[in-house]
Amino acid sequence: MDLGIRGKTALVCAASKGLGRACAFSLAREGVRLVITARGREALDATAAEIRKACGVEVTAVPGDITTDEGRRAALAACPAPDILVNNAGGPPTGDFREWDRDAWFKALNANMLTPIELIRATLDGMIARKFGRIINITSTSVKAPIPALGLSNGARTGLTGFVAGLARQTVKHNVTINNLLPGSFLTDRTRQTLAGFAKAAGLTEEQAAAERLRSIPAGRLGDPEEFGDACAYLCSAQASYVTGQNFLIDGGAYPGTF
Ligand code: NAD
Repeated sequence: MDLGIRGKTALVCAASKGLGRACAFSLAREGVRLVITARGREALDATAAEIRKACGVEVTAVPGDITTDEGRRAALAACPAPDILVNNAGGPPTGDFREWDRDAWFKALNANMLTPIELIRATLDGMIARKFGRIINITSTSVKAPIPALGLSNGARTGLTGFVAGLARQTVKHNVTINNLLPGSFLTDRTRQTLAGFAKAAGLTEEQAAAERLRSIPAGRLGDPEEFGDACAYLCSAQASYVTGQNFLIDGGAYPGTF
């Protein structure tokens, strides 16, 4: 299926590795021009070069921390009028809520709620004027089923989800949709780190920790980031103009609810 987005421009945040990178790749395969960001220049430049080589599209790499004013200014200067915005940043740490002071909460809210809202604010009216826009927020299954050790993520991402639920219904008549992608367990650096942390805390080897995680995933495996990227590309497609305000779980069946 041709997704009808060839020649569009996407700003994909936090895209040197993992899920953001996979979204950038899948959009590039559809002929979308990219501006990608991440904190570390080396990995970002390497990803940009790989995408250019594999997909033959224009890719601009903008190093910077997207959770800062400076990082957002640099990203928007390189991509002032995106047709597609993929909001992403690193996730908050695990822990016990007794350890989290206001500063810890502000960091999580800033990265996983306020930063995407700022980027939406900066780009949405242009999308409305041009009568095309696709905004994807990478959130987490923690929005549907809170993860006890990830209270900062549960709180901050649910705040974003509530905000988006209201806004997405106001923009769809202009062919501007806003949807959230909720990853379960995908094989990325973040998952490798959280599994290592879990193994250490539980006194298991990393292999035992991985086996433990797989027991809760009906698919019996971790997700491949490419599967995630392709779902992102579909939600950014011309065909998906009637889909907005949705929370799309991609978790190998791990969430046990009927709805
Ligand atoms: P990852 O660690 O593999 O990759 C993160 C990418 O984001 C890297 O390119 C990194 O450079 C970039 N990045 C991080 N913070 C940034 C910042 N402040 N500014 C700019 N770039 C930044 O992570 P991932 O597994 O791809 O996860 C992406 C998001 O999805 C995270 O918020 C994570 O919590 C969430 N998530 C992931 C999973 C999973 O299974 N991988 C599950 C649930 C939620």
